[in-house]
Parts: sequence; C-alpha cells; structure tokens
Amino acid sequence: MSPLAPWLADAWRTLAGALAGGRLHHGLLLAAPAGYGKRALADALVAAALCQDRGPDGHACGRCRACTLLAAGTHPDRVHITFEVNPKTDKLRTEIVIEQIRDLSQRLALSSQFGGLQLAIVEPADRLNAAAANALLKTLEEPAANTVIVLVADEPARLPATIRSRCQRIDIRPPAPDEALAWLRGQGIAAERAAAAFEASLGNPGRALAWCADDTLAVRSGCADDLAALAQGRRTATEIADRWVADQPETRLWFAAALARDEAQRLARGETGRFGLTTRDEIPKLAAWFGRANAARGLLATTLRADLVLLDLLRTWPVRGAPH
Ligand SMILES: [Zn+2]
Repeated sequence: MSPLAPWLADAWRTLAGALAGGRLHHGLLLAAPAGYGKRALADALVAAALCQDRGPDGHACGRCRACTLLAAGTHPDRVHITFEVNPKTDKLRTEIVIEQIRDLSQRLALSSQFGGLQLAIVEPADRLNAAAANALLKTLEEPAANTVIVLVADEPARLPATIRSRCQRIDIRPPAPDEALAWLRGQGIAAERAAAAFEASLGNPGRALAWCADDTLAVRSGCADDLAALAQGRRTATEIADRWVADQPETRLWFAAALARDEAQRLARGETGRFGLTTRDEIPKLAAWFGRANAARGLLATTLRADLVLLDLLRTWPVRGAPH
C-alpha cells in the first residue's frame, strides 16, 4: 500500500513513471501550500530512486541495504539542504545561503557511491537568498550526470523565474474533503474533531492535523468569541489587541481573516452571521477586513509594534449598527 496520502497519488504516478522510465528531470519543483505533504512526496521519490528492490507500485522496499542506510540517515547519495545554524549567532538561519549550495554542487559533481542516482532535497527552496539562488541556477544549467535536485516550495512564485524555468514543476492538487477526512481519521483523529479542524484549516489536511495535536482549535474559538464581543460592543478593540498580541498573534490573525470570510459567505447566503451581523451591506466591509487582516499578518514580521497593528485592524471590525 502506498505510504502517501491519497491526494498525492497523481503527482506520485508522474514521478514514479519518470523514474521507472529513466527520464526523471534533473530539477524538480514540488509546489503546494504547507501541509499538503510535499516533503513526504519528495522523501518517497528519493527512497524509490535509491532503493535496490522497488515494489510494483514504484515505492521503495524498505528492507534493502540502500533503504536501511536511508532510514538511518546515512545514505551517501542523498543530500538534504535546509536551514542551518549560523555559527556566528548560534541561531537557526531563516534562509538558505550560498555556501550550502556550493557544497551541494561540489558533492553532486562527484559520482554516486552506489552507482545510481544522487538526489538532493532543497527545502524550503523559496527561502534561498539571492546569492544562493544564483549559485543554484548555475548548477541547474549544467547538471552533473545522474543527479536530481528536488526543490520543495510553499510559495514557488518567490523563486526566480530563471530557476523555475529550469525545473519540471509538479503541482499537488488540493485534497478532496472526503479523502482528507479519511486520512485524518487514519491518523487517529476522531471524526468530529477531524471535520472541525479541516474546516478551520480551510481545507489543509496537514495544518488540520497539527491543530488537532495542540490547542489551536481552542485559539480559533477564542478569536470567534472576541470578534462577536467586539461586534456587539461587549469588548473593546484595545482589550482584544492586548490579548491577541500576548498569545499567537499570527495564528489569531489567520483565523480572524478566515472568520471574516466565513461571515461574508453566510451573509451572502442570506443567513445570520455568527457575529450578530445581519445585513448584506456588511459583506464588502468584511471582504475589505479580510484583506486588511492578511496584510496585518505580514506586518507582524516587520519592526512595527504588533499591538498597534492589531489595534488598527480591530478598530475597523464592523460593529453591529454602527455606520462605517
Ligand atoms: Zn529498498
């Protein structure tokens, strides 16, 4: 049985078919939002490419010498490039730097120790800095024989077009709700909780699973309560901004934006919104607020004061009965 989630099946068939036919592209770009399972797909491809006894479904056997080395993290023909600790600051970097790409190119220039393919996973490829991206472009333009570089990116548009044009792009389709819910239940999540988390995640199974493992769903309910209280004048924007800035402000803004969108959709269907908003006049205000909430989420990463960013946003939440 495939170890991959069902919505990865189409992408897997493409990759496994190319591998079996000996025509795997030397630069692959796996593109999908975080939470869709890109990394699992990349890992399955690398495992299959290195395995000495692939199964009929194209997957690695999990038992041969290559599979054993891979599982131990010691297979010499697999390279993983991701954020490294900066020795000057002792902190994990938030970008992939040129030295890492230079090391990768040198390593791929040597021949494979097992006589097969050498594969590198670069993740997150959309966080290569400019110099690293330039170096990677050169490697992609003059690939060493029998090498495959797998770029894994949540936001492929952030990659330079020159790199994208050198890669075969593999898109992962959004999961259908029934297959995502079945998958979540297969991970040990009760049906009702799985459904709530999947809805809250706007259809993202990986995110839903992560939220089931911690208290993030409670955070969402808290945001909904706060926005209802704000709309009804029971709490002030300042109180809520203080509360949000102290605990997971980015996640709260993500939920707040999604809740505004939900509310607009309810009103558009002629239903009463969950925040006590009742008229269709509120729809454009909610749509504008959705955009502002997402913009505010981006501002949290800047030097602006987070409490003021939140306060500015919350002050524009449509208050029931108030003219805007
Ligand atoms: Zn194997």
